[in-house]
Amino acid sequence: MSQTAFSTLDLKPDLLSNLSSLGYEQMTPIQAQSLPHILAGKDIIAQGKTGSGKTAAFGLGVLEHLNVKRFRVQSLVLCPTRELADQVANEIRRLARAIHNIKVLTLCGGMPFGPQIGSLEHGAHIVVGTPGRVEEHVRKGYLNLDDLNLLILDEADRMLEMGFQEALDEIIDAAPSDRQTLLFSATYPTQIKSIAGRIMQDPVVVKVSSTH
Ligand code: ADP
Ligand code: MG
Repeated sequence: MSQTAFSTLDLKPDLLSNLSSLGYEQMTPIQAQSLPHILAGKDIIAQGKTGSGKTAAFGLGVLEHLNVKRFRVQSLVLCPTRELADQVANEIRRLARAIHNIKVLTLCGGMPFGPQIGSLEHGAHIVVGTPGRVEEHVRKGYLNLDDLNLLILDEADRMLEMGFQEALDEIIDAAPSDRQTLLFSATYPTQIKSIAGRIMQDPVVVKVSSTH
């Protein structure tokens, strides 16, 4: 099987050397097919099974596009559950190890609201959360999305199954319209096609069936 090394990508040298220290040398198929488009600023819809490496695909897009000196929320990742949001936040922190002072904040339901307000007041570069809680922070004015340039819907099919459509719509309404949007999903039902048609611009569709 043909493999492609991360080093073929135009990534910051610190990110590349950290990938290598994590033991990530070759891209998985979904990373190889989506990362060039993500780094080029395109919207994408990526369909791939669990374990195909979707988190690093969008995580590297987040970190490559980030301006560390600008301490404002620039990327927002939405996940169906707190467990998944915690996993994504931890993977982004691992990928970001080479970049100092990156703040990744999780905002999930089932956690006390007050401390999250305090964390938002301190600031963050990247927010990872569940749609209901993120929408509540946006609606109440604690989370400002004016500087958002990258919005990621992870496991979009599950978020819709769980009834998060309305919260997603509210969050998307509050985000700048010139942002980049990445949608990841294990399946690609009609409901996903219709949300993608509304929130994305000329998306590249990437579909991968194998994980290696
Ligand atoms: P998905 O979200 O598609 O289900 P994950 O992003 O959780 O998959 O990745 C699955 C596992 O593969 C994780 O343990 C991650 O650390 C590992 N992984 C991802 N990309 C690579 C890579 N290019 N090389 C080696 N391991 C990787
Ligand atoms: Mg995943």
